[in-house]
Amino acid sequence: MAIPAYDLVVKSSVIVTPSGTISGQIAVRDEKIVGILAPGDDLPAKKTIDAGADPVIPGLIDTHCHFRDPGYTHKEDYYHGTVAAAAGGVTTVFDMPNVNPPTTTADRLKAHLDNAQSKAVVDFGHNASGVVPENIKELADAGATAFKVWMMKDIGRDYPHPPGTSLTNRGVLYRVFEEVAETGLPLYIHPHDHDLYELFVERSQRQWGMDFRSYARALRGGNGVVLNTAIATILEFQRSVGTKLHVLHLSTRGGIRMVADAKAEGRDVTAEANPFALFVTNDWDTIEKKGPYALGFWVPEDDNPAMWGAVKDGTIDVIGSDHGPHTKEEKEVGWDDMYTAPGGSPMIEQYLRLLLTEVNKGNLSLERVVEMCASAPARLTGYDGRKGAIVPGADADLVILDMDHEETLHASHAHYMCGWMPSEDFETKGRPRMTVLRGKVIMEDGNVTAAKGSGRLLRPQR
Ligand SMILES: [Zn+2]
Repeated sequence: MAIPAYDLVVKSSVIVTPSGTISGQIAVRDEKIVGILAPGDDLPAKKTIDAGADPVIPGLIDTHCHFRDPGYTHKEDYYHGTVAAAAGGVTTVFDMPNVNPPTTTADRLKAHLDNAQSKAVVDFGHNASGVVPENIKELADAGATAFKVWMMKDIGRDYPHPPGTSLTNRGVLYRVFEEVAETGLPLYIHPHDHDLYELFVERSQRQWGMDFRSYARALRGGNGVVLNTAIATILEFQRSVGTKLHVLHLSTRGGIRMVADAKAEGRDVTAEANPFALFVTNDWDTIEKKGPYALGFWVPEDDNPAMWGAVKDGTIDVIGSDHGPHTKEEKEVGWDDMYTAPGGSPMIEQYLRLLLTEVNKGNLSLERVVEMCASAPARLTGYDGRKGAIVPGADADLVILDMDHEETLHASHAHYMCGWMPSEDFETKGRPRMTVLRGKVIMEDGNVTAAKGSGRLLRPQR
């Protein structure tokens, strides 16, 4: 009996799978991995990619990106954001709700997903805004993959505290925990004590003025108390209600300790770290040099050992790119007045390169990178078994790496819209050479060939 040909076979002596890193052949049919076979004779296939000793890992899953679409498409849109994702080895994205209009209702969510479907080149889902407790059930039914809340005052400006996405009232927040728990979906929270923040902003402005240095220090006033008290609050809410809680932007020693304790108790808590906090804003010299193009959040040097410890020991589960593009014009203001300039920075295309550089230095294992960037995000979003791992039955989302490729990062090579890069001029070693989405090569040597709209909407599996 003739063996039917596979659509694709990928051969490599370094395939990172959940049961170990192995040599073999990944056989793909009808968009899915149907087997991982021993190395050896050529298998019948329409296309064979022999990666040799280049590692093959699952496509990355980015649970935290801002594509600014709709509402702010002068900064980024769903097409360019997902092209940058494909170029960076990311095959699944979940974007954030601080768009205009923010996704607070089922109708808005449906419109958001339709718009995304017309543009995406990788698979996608959406983290809806969770600030209206009575709308959470309908949002879950309409296809939200998670809920996001910023613990900030909603003052109706699109920046820094986006309308329809933020709340500070603890009673309302508790109701959000209850409603999200009913859906079984995860709740992503940006921890922030806004009252304390205002106190430290006032002190920072009095002492250092309005520039980027003053802004960087304000959030870290009182040794991280602005972040730590908020983390303590949401962890107690989680203890009380049992909601699946995902703590965003973990970057303080105190926060890491609290999350580790909650996990040791067996609670349903996960945590995220962002590439900027591991590579850019964790060094004051970089902040001095790049000013508003580095910020975001300053992570003081004292917190670095705990951060990298948490990345290695698993206290930090997930790396979310927090891809947050703004135009150069919007950023330039921040040299003198960072309090009116926006804080985000684009990262989705470079974070795998930065992590692979650490693998090459011996600071991090490739398996740990796969765990944080693919396997753990798949479990968090409920897509384990289908995404984030090289196993039979999963979608054939693969990235072939070139671990020897040395490169100085430049924004001129990037595919996203805003034209600058927080990691400009960084020396890297290791890159994604080829990205495969559901068995189809969508990126090779930086050229993204996927058609606009070929990404597929993922609905929650509950
Ligand atoms: Zn974000």
